[in-house]
Amino acid sequence: QLQDDYSLMEQVTRFFQHQLRQNGNSKKAIDYLKNRGLSGDIVKQWEIGYAPDGWSTLLDTFGKSPQQIKQLIDLRLVNQNDQGRTYDFFRDRIMFPIRDKRGRVVGFGGRVLEDGGPKYLNSPETRIFHKGNELFGFYSARQQNRQLDTVVVVEGYMDVVALSQFDINIATAALGTATTLEHIQMLVRATPHIVCCYDGDRAGREAAWRALENALPALKDGVRLSFLFLPDGEDPDTMVRQIGKDAFLDMLNGAMPLSRFFFENLLKSHNVGTAEGKIALKKAAMPLIESTLGAEQKNMLLEELAKHTGE
Ligand code: ATP
Ligand code: MN
Ligand code: MN
Ligand code: MN
Repeated sequence: QLQDDYSLMEQVTRFFQHQLRQNGNSKKAIDYLKNRGLSGDIVKQWEIGYAPDGWSTLLDTFGKSPQQIKQLIDLRLVNQNDQGRTYDFFRDRIMFPIRDKRGRVVGFGGRVLEDGGPKYLNSPETRIFHKGNELFGFYSARQQNRQLDTVVVVEGYMDVVALSQFDINIATAALGTATTLEHIQMLVRATPHIVCCYDGDRAGREAAWRALENALPALKDGVRLSFLFLPDGEDPDTMVRQIGKDAFLDMLNGAMPLSRFFFENLLKSHNVGTAEGKIALKKAAMPLIESTLGAEQKNMLLEELAKHTGE
């Protein structure tokens, strides 16, 4: 008897959790999580599990009939090669279940234990999993807060989990993709203040700018967008472990407003000391300003632009 996709994903979540406790090889996975500073409670809370280092542990457990095997392939939990051979998609990885906004498990993120090779492997797109629409931790943040005054968007699973270990239950992560318009639309419905807090490296800065570009068309009046830039080499996980909850919340409170990041970034590549530079700045800024949804936000950016171009 075939069960629906969501209950299968739920059972697979339990299976990975069970493997973390019971699999003969899972000591290294547990040691890894301990070394990352995760408590047992937090591992349980996030339903973190372990995909064993075998080719068919999951397949043997859930693929008892051709129909079941097909469902596993459809959900991309099992791969099928050109010769028709089937094998587990996630092997020897720490597993993070990804819940959609209604709380259903729709995919997984899997991290290698040793560095080297692709660090994270996400479930590929399936009929129930569309990466650009999902935010890891969003469901949990909504469950834990009656009202979300602020939501922090971070880069990684570990960032969300580490922050929650420090009792900061307002973080959510895009799944290794840019923060999309769809993500922002989801967030705008849930909170009046979105803080993008990416890693303190070049990639993080660039991700912040892309998030800004993607956010403007969804940014209605009454919703603020801010940016928190961490010191180079840090991410929210390492940061909160260093400075603790209160200092991290202080950093969040001091996050840079959208308008400031917007112009600081544009002024890096445009010298408004010259007439040419002013025109170029305007050319670069106008399409973005025009794309802004909220009239007040749009006007604010226009006024700010006028200051820089001296009009
Ligand atoms: P960790 O702290 O476990 O090393 P991280 O979360 O800090 O991981 P980053 O390298 O900063 O990892 O990447 C941020 C996020 O980007 C990851 O959580 C993951 O979602 C995604 N990501 C990173 N590397 C890959 C990859 N090779 N393939 C797909 N997604 C990835
Ligand atoms: Mn990074
Ligand atoms: Mn990290
Ligand atoms: Mn990181």
